Amino acid sequence: MTKRQETMSGHLRTEVCISAKSAWLQYWIDLIKWRDIALHFLFKVFPMNATSSYDLIIIGAGPGGYVCAIRAAQLGMKVACVEKRSTLGGTCLNVGCIPSKALLSASEKYHEAKDELGKMGIKISGVKLDLEGMMGHKKAVVDSNTKGIEFLFKKNKVEWLKGSGKIIAAGQVDVDGTVYQAKNIVIATGSDVAVPPGIMVDEKRIVSSTGALELSEVPKKMVVIGGGVIGLELGAVWGRLGSEVTVVEYMNRILPTMDSELSKEMQKILTKQGMVFKLSTKVSKAEADKKGVTLELEPAAGGDKEIIKADIVLVAVGRKAYTDALGLEAVGVERDERGRIKTDVHFQSNVAGIYAIGDVIAGPMLAHKAEDEGVVLAEILAGQSGHIDYNLIPGVVYTWPEVASVGQTEEQLKQAGVDYKSGKFPFMANGRARAMNATEGFVKILADAKTDRVLGCHIIGPEAGTLIAEVTAVMEFGGSSEDIARTCHAHPTLEEVVKEAALAVLGRPLHI
Ligand code: FAD
Ligand code: NAD
Repeated sequence: MTKRQETMSGHLRTEVCISAKSAWLQYWIDLIKWRDIALHFLFKVFPMNATSSYDLIIIGAGPGGYVCAIRAAQLGMKVACVEKRSTLGGTCLNVGCIPSKALLSASEKYHEAKDELGKMGIKISGVKLDLEGMMGHKKAVVDSNTKGIEFLFKKNKVEWLKGSGKIIAAGQVDVDGTVYQAKNIVIATGSDVAVPPGIMVDEKRIVSSTGALELSEVPKKMVVIGGGVIGLELGAVWGRLGSEVTVVEYMNRILPTMDSELSKEMQKILTKQGMVFKLSTKVSKAEADKKGVTLELEPAAGGDKEIIKADIVLVAVGRKAYTDALGLEAVGVERDERGRIKTDVHFQSNVAGIYAIGDVIAGPMLAHKAEDEGVVLAEILAGQSGHIDYNLIPGVVYTWPEVASVGQTEEQLKQAGVDYKSGKFPFMANGRARAMNATEGFVKILADAKTDRVLGCHIIGPEAGTLIAEVTAVMEFGGSSEDIARTCHAHPTLEEVVKEAALAVLGRPLHI
């Protein structure tokens, strides 16, 4: 081979080499392109694979979980919320606050139309109960609320991981076999019905609140075990619709954690409405058969047994934290003696990166408490500071009249040796309450004897749940009863009863 030939063939080799290189390059470019297209379709079909790592995974989409998710997303976090129910909103929206309030409102209107409006010159004849229609109203309300949370998740780009969540390690959540990563995990799995020994809930004859929201006919006789919030609210619903309701309460008063004056007044009013109370009594046995339920009662302190019969028994003796199948033992998350997850003031469990909020931790089992914890925790995780004053979480019972409480009760103040003043004003002396034919009850404000700072407020009466908000806000700002008394309140309103109670603390109510 000549030198020229060598050079030419070398040139040729270089050209061949370059074209072989560009073919390889093209091959890889095409491969990457097709891989991307394939992955794109794969992620469209199986979106979970594309988004398996998050800043925050929340287990449970009740008021604690879904609110925490929305707030965290607002603060820029990539958030997923695991929920095993087929709808979002947890106990509150599905089988708690919302359906019970739908039935309370509907049954209240039925009772008003049947028995009350005549007193205001409105004669209605032939008022009839359409229970199926009432349940339809409840279902529509629940559906629109739960769908609303789905909309809010989409709006805030919170991903709903459908299925049961289990923590397999800090930073890892298994949802029905797929593992997701997260910088932080929040447990917001809520609570479940507590059932006393000797009783079995079948949701037919012996029902929990869930069954009591679904009855297909009005029971002739209903026995409610537990004179707390659920017992009185759902007892009131079925009482208004025609049941004879007997409430069996273990303690010597109903609503035992509220101010005792409220308990007494509530019992008086509900007795007038037809409810029967057996206090300081416990149910030792309840047996259901096709005809009804036979209950064995005995005095709480011990003594002779009594047998009573009922068509339906509602078990409402409280709720317990729900942590089933969450994998807490394996991960080492500690719980207290009541099964609630132990947390520090920042809602963190003993395992770093695992937090808990709502009914599953200590504190009142209320939706607004869970929501506030959700907001505060999201803000803490975003590097902000957050705080909840647990003394200022209002409690409301949505019976008619309503009961509402915030801050300390008289019993608590006495026990703590606090020197306090009390001001009370009845709805009977308020023009608007008279106009509404809703004069039962009173507002009571408790204030520090020296500083006049408001320490508690206890209301029984129309719109009590709304009226308590003013006093809660004043208490948040460390305000006094004089602050309320000197604030101009529109006339004629029920709010004037709050103002008069504040004036009563100062010893100078105007309209009594
Ligand atoms: P929940 O609302 O219980 O939500 C927890 C969610 O977690 C559930 O949806 C559950 O399915 C899900 N979950 C559990 N484990 C897993 C898992 N491993 N994987 C995936 N998902 C899981 N409170 C009020 O403030 N006002 C009221 O008027 C009121 N009325 C009520 C009426 C009734 C009949 C009842 C029963 C309760 C009522 N409550 C009311 C209480 C209120 O419902 C609760 O305090 C509130 O729902 C607690 O919120 P949460 O987010 O902690 O838990
Ligand atoms: P609760 O704690 O309000 O009342 C339970 C009642 O049952 C208490 O009065 C208790 O003394 C009594 N009791 C306990 N064991 C008993 C027994 N063996 N026999 C007879 N009485 C017994 O509980 P609940 O009414 O079941 O409600 C559960 C939770 O749901 C509460 O924490 C409540 O805050 C929440 N909830 C709130 C609202 C609301 O805010 N309007 C409405 C419903 C439920």
